[in-house]
Amino acid sequence: MSKIIASAAIRGAHKIAKQADVILAKAVKEKGEDCAVEFPNTGYYIPIIYSMTGRAVEKLADFKEVMDEVNDLLPPLVDDDLWLPYLGQALDAGMATLFAEEIIEACKYLIGPNPVDDIWLGAADDMILRERGIQFVDGTAPGFAAVVGAAPDVETAVDIARKLQERCLYVFMSAHNNGTTFAEQLVEGGVQLGWETRLVPFGREITSAIYSLGFASRAALSFGGVQAGDFRRNLLYNKNRIFAFVMPLGEVTDEWYATAAGAINYGFPVIADSDIPEILPTGVCTYEHVVSRIPHDQIVEKAIEVRGLKIKITEIPVPVSVSPAFEGERIRKEEMHCEFGGQRTPAFEWLRMSEISDVEDGKVVVEGPDVDSVEAGGKLPLGIVVEVAGRKMQADFEPVLERQVHTFMNEAQGIWHMGQRDINWVRISNDAAKAGFKLEHVGKLLHAKYHDEYSSIVDKVQVTIYTDEKKVVKLREQAQAVYAERDARLAGMADEDVEIFYSCALCQSFAPNHVCVVSPERPGLCGAYSWLDCRAAYEITPSGPNQPIPKGTSIEPTVGQWDKVNAFVVGSTGGNVERMSQYSMIVDPMTSCGCFECIAAVLPSTGGIMIANREYPEMTPCGMKFSTLAGTVGGGQQTPGFIGHSKHYISSKKFIAAEGGIKRIVWMPTVLKEEVKAAMVKRAEELGLGGEEFLDKIADERAATTEEEVLEFITKAEHPVTTMDPMF
Ligand code: SF4
Ligand code: ZN
Repeated sequence: MSKIIASAAIRGAHKIAKQADVILAKAVKEKGEDCAVEFPNTGYYIPIIYSMTGRAVEKLADFKEVMDEVNDLLPPLVDDDLWLPYLGQALDAGMATLFAEEIIEACKYLIGPNPVDDIWLGAADDMILRERGIQFVDGTAPGFAAVVGAAPDVETAVDIARKLQERCLYVFMSAHNNGTTFAEQLVEGGVQLGWETRLVPFGREITSAIYSLGFASRAALSFGGVQAGDFRRNLLYNKNRIFAFVMPLGEVTDEWYATAAGAINYGFPVIADSDIPEILPTGVCTYEHVVSRIPHDQIVEKAIEVRGLKIKITEIPVPVSVSPAFEGERIRKEEMHCEFGGQRTPAFEWLRMSEISDVEDGKVVVEGPDVDSVEAGGKLPLGIVVEVAGRKMQADFEPVLERQVHTFMNEAQGIWHMGQRDINWVRISNDAAKAGFKLEHVGKLLHAKYHDEYSSIVDKVQVTIYTDEKKVVKLREQAQAVYAERDARLAGMADEDVEIFYSCALCQSFAPNHVCVVSPERPGLCGAYSWLDCRAAYEITPSGPNQPIPKGTSIEPTVGQWDKVNAFVVGSTGGNVERMSQYSMIVDPMTSCGCFECIAAVLPSTGGIMIANREYPEMTPCGMKFSTLAGTVGGGQQTPGFIGHSKHYISSKKFIAAEGGIKRIVWMPTVLKEEVKAAMVKRAEELGLGGEEFLDKIADERAATTEEEVLEFITKAEHPVTTMDPMF
């Protein structure tokens, strides 16, 4: 450990601790010791402090103990000439810095300046953590670059950001360099910031760097099953699983040093453009701790090499960049060159299998006017027909592959895709059109991606794109007949009709005790895997996470238990779960990983249940927000009285059939009600509850936010649950 870095880090740590002292005293004076303190919408308290020390800070007074800990950790100030042989002291200083910085940022939420301001986003809530963090787990995002400071100019900033995006990394931005920030440079360069584009501006001060490290700490708790307070495992999880690094741009101040030392604790190396002393490999990071003096045009490659990222970049012959990082990019009306579908023009997309001899691999045909013949802001009809062939291809795979059109097209920079089937909507940006992007490139992109990701079943891919209105309308009719056929296939299927269910263990990488048992009438709790999808996925990858489970003999018909399903669950959860019910939320309910679209929870005094969906951030009648509920239910536990489930499952005949099905639902947020309305009305009619009439008897946030209010509402509304037996 270089003595210079150590002394600078220790100096910086003292300065930040001092700042924390001052702002904490001010906050206590203004708000009182008992004032509640939190980052918005999180179940992880003040996350670095919580995950490293196990302390659940809830009010300002709790910070006092943390300050004591900061002072214990702080090594004494050293003068520059003193030789410090151990990395340890700088690391302690780094940790103390992070705690102090969290105190500073948390106090800012109380007494200002508000961390959320203009372009600055402040703390990420648990919904973002879930949505984005999972990408670190499943590999769609290997990790993040914590950029500190600013590039020498706008062009360099844009170049660095693009390169990081192309490698699918998130870019977390904090601190300014003499007043200039990287985030503002990107805005000036016309780059879209936000979680969707993976370019995340946390704040202009160095203290906002804790939002990156807090995110990493929570990822370990949420996905890694690490316990709060187990700092060793938390840091190891991050070192091994999250490919992150710090990229300080510009003059490195003492405070930056101190914060970087905090990041080194996580095994995140520091790659700088300025001349700071290097620290060679040993100990904490996998590779070098600090690498300096890297020219800007090489800094991204260097960071990736140091951190040891392996990223597959396939060259696709289109004039724009292609990477999952562009998936979340939106294209506003002013930025769009032209659009297709979206109820503005007829459109559809359809993937079908053909005979091998009928498909010419790589052939792309465009029939009708192209992008360059439309005036800026114009629109065209669009029919995308993908024909695939392969010896292992089957008709059942068609919908699974067809759904990928959405993902694949969004990965192209400047192309935006929404929806599916005949409700698709596509936009091409001005920049993409200027770069020469035409419809044939859609075909080339799809061709390349199908080969890249589905080589086991797809041998040949051919794409035809129609923009001629008559042709589009005519072909759309054919496609619609196929969509209807596909829907009927699953809709007509009951659990009783099949001998085999499927497992999904995709989430075991972060919730090792969780397995979804997917049956025709109960899709996976994330909503992404139906029984047909699992079956197709199994055939595509026989050794993959979706395995067939022969049901065996029914042992508990009401709650839905079969001997072989239980045996499978025992094996698949390492013996942690012995029995699992397909149709009950009370008796041996299914475990939850954390990806559930919804959570159902019993409201005991009402005799019914509430359902909250992930998009609903407010308090729910069970006294918990979704984020807190998710913490209670998730992580591979069985929690009687609670289940995580998909939106689709709500209208299934098997929805908590053991407890009486949808008749038990007494509260849902309005957004969710709207979303599942059609299917629920149908189901309510089948049950003789009256369609819409029944939905009106279910309370929502407009009528009730507490259990008492729900009870009052349903009593008045004469909800059918009021005549049912209690649930327990
Ligand atoms: Fe599979 Fe269930 Fe995870 Fe969805 S939530 S990916 S179905 S294990
Ligand atoms: Zn999951």
